[in-house]
Amino acid sequence: CGVFGIANHKDAAQICYYGLHSLQHRGQEAAGILVSNQHKLTVHKGEGLVTEVFNASQIQALSGDMAIGHVRYSTAGGGGIANVQPFLFRTMQGDLGICHNGNIVNANLLKYELEIQGSIFSSSSDTEVIGHLIKRQNGRMIERICQALQRLDGAFALLIMLEDRLYAVRDKYGLRPLSIGQLPNGGYVFASETCALDIVGAKFLRDIEPGEIVRVKDGKLLSMLYTDEPIQDKICAMEYIYFSRPDSDLDGINVHTTRKLAGKQLYQESHVDADIVIGVPDSSISAAIGYSEAAGIPYEMGLIKNKYVGRTFIQPTQELRSQGVRMKLSAVSSIVNNKRVIMIDDSIVRGTTSKRIVKLLKDAGAKEVHVRIASPAIKYPCFYGVDTSTQSELISHKMDVHELCQYIGADSLYFISEEGIKKSIHFKKEHTCDLCMACFNGHYVTSLYENEVERD
Ligand code: 5GP
Ligand code: SF4
Ligand code: MG
Repeated sequence: CGVFGIANHKDAAQICYYGLHSLQHRGQEAAGILVSNQHKLTVHKGEGLVTEVFNASQIQALSGDMAIGHVRYSTAGGGGIANVQPFLFRTMQGDLGICHNGNIVNANLLKYELEIQGSIFSSSSDTEVIGHLIKRQNGRMIERICQALQRLDGAFALLIMLEDRLYAVRDKYGLRPLSIGQLPNGGYVFASETCALDIVGAKFLRDIEPGEIVRVKDGKLLSMLYTDEPIQDKICAMEYIYFSRPDSDLDGINVHTTRKLAGKQLYQESHVDADIVIGVPDSSISAAIGYSEAAGIPYEMGLIKNKYVGRTFIQPTQELRSQGVRMKLSAVSSIVNNKRVIMIDDSIVRGTTSKRIVKLLKDAGAKEVHVRIASPAIKYPCFYGVDTSTQSELISHKMDVHELCQYIGADSLYFISEEGIKKSIHFKKEHTCDLCMACFNGHYVTSLYENEVERD
């Protein structure tokens, strides 16, 4: 998912719309904007792309000077309109709105406890729990929010809005990204990725730190930690590898640069002789360029993507997914015919994409197809907001590299090493922060509660 928030701007909803549009790659199932005019919160949300959910008059109707918005990629709780964010709670003490990127791993336990105390939930989303928890605390608003946050385990980049203030929070593991920017008029914006700051003309101020809560009220920023438990700095490695846009910087590290270095690293770890290097558009182009530069083998446009088909992975059923792959990519016969091809992709999850593309390339006349993957093999499910939640769906859980190579029909297959991807992401010496790599190695930063994982 992607979140965007803005405080102190007369066209808050309009700017939020542009911000969400630039975060569209983070989720295409639903979108919503919640706006405050300092007295009352108003929401508009629906299923579909940002441009499908909103038209100009709907944006106009959302008048106010603060807004939070969300693009949804459904993981916990599944799809359906009841789970579309922002969530809006109307209470006798005022309105409360929430947008959430990530996944609360102890949500079911908390839900159980809250239901016993009398809460009734209107969705199956883990995010709704946060509103109910805040409601049950006492004291000043910031204290109530911090007490609620202390009960949560898992991944969250959160935007919480009341009539006259906005809070932005990052979980104590730093799993999901969240940045602060400032508009030319002094207003503040918050975004999952820095590409959304650029698009609305905001200057990047800094990333929100793991465990930090920031409040904007009366145009001023206040910051504190929401917990005194140990803080870790384990941003999701997949943000760099696949999720984020190449022009975004996460924790001060540019995404395109890390992908290019991963391509170079793949060359160093696993080179084979070939005529051309191609990347699977769009997320693997940076890595393919890096490989090509390092190997001195030309980078070619061997695969073309129809830009108007959404990300295949997002479509919920396997049947739709494989149909999506067919609609989306074509091999360029006059480029790959009779060539030995090195094909770079960012990841293999279920194996659908690689299998399909190897076949496309061979049908188009490629002599050999050597697949190089710019992430380690994904063997463990992610419980932190990326939709690879059952282990049995992960092809690298079921097959070793040799079997998988045969399954996808490639001439050779290699996954970048864990050390290799770490090196590519932390290419500057001053970056000492750690990474979550649980989907590669099973080392989860949180407890797993009821989520079962089979160990090797
Ligand atoms: P597969 O076809 O193996 O199930 O999925 C891998 C392909 O899906 C890659 O080309 C990758 O770019 C794309 N993809 C789409 N969404 C996701 C996602 O959420 N995580 C990962 N790792 N890859 C994804
Ligand atoms: Fe990211 Fe994988 Fe960790 Fe999930 S398990 S947060 S996808 S690195
Ligand atoms: Mg891809």
